[in-house]
Amino acid sequence: MSEAPTLRSRRPLTLRFDIPISKTHEFWDSLRAGRFVTTKCSKCGNVSFPPQSDCSRCMGSEFHWVDLGQDATLVTYTQVLTVPASFSAEGSYTVAIAEFRGGVKALAWLEGVTAEDATPGMKLRVEARTRSDGSPYYVFVPV
Ligand SMILES: [Zn+2]
Repeated sequence: MSEAPTLRSRRPLTLRFDIPISKTHEFWDSLRAGRFVTTKCSKCGNVSFPPQSDCSRCMGSEFHWVDLGQDATLVTYTQVLTVPASFSAEGSYTVAIAEFRGGVKALAWLEGVTAEDATPGMKLRVEARTRSDGSPYYVFVPV
């Protein structure tokens, strides 16, 4: 049985994301220092994550930074078995949503526990990491 002809490309595809961070660089600077911060609207008090330079509730553009701390609670998670091309070197991984004190939720990779052993409600800690290219990122790990 011969394979049907396709238009599938076999060329490698490199994706580059240039995301402007001029208004939210404080998040990345803080993450490098081991602190997990986000924005709080100075007008209505809405706390956003990821950090936002414009409030989604009142459209205000004045904000200040608040420290979310390191402790969070696992809300839900999923194991990614079919890995996107940009993460092909990583193998399968688990993505989690966790809630910080005050109700702010964040999404990050969950490490240090298998998807079979993860349980909603378990206590997590957010940890700052640095990629080989020097860029910071964060993960959740069990406490
Ligand atoms: Zn607001």
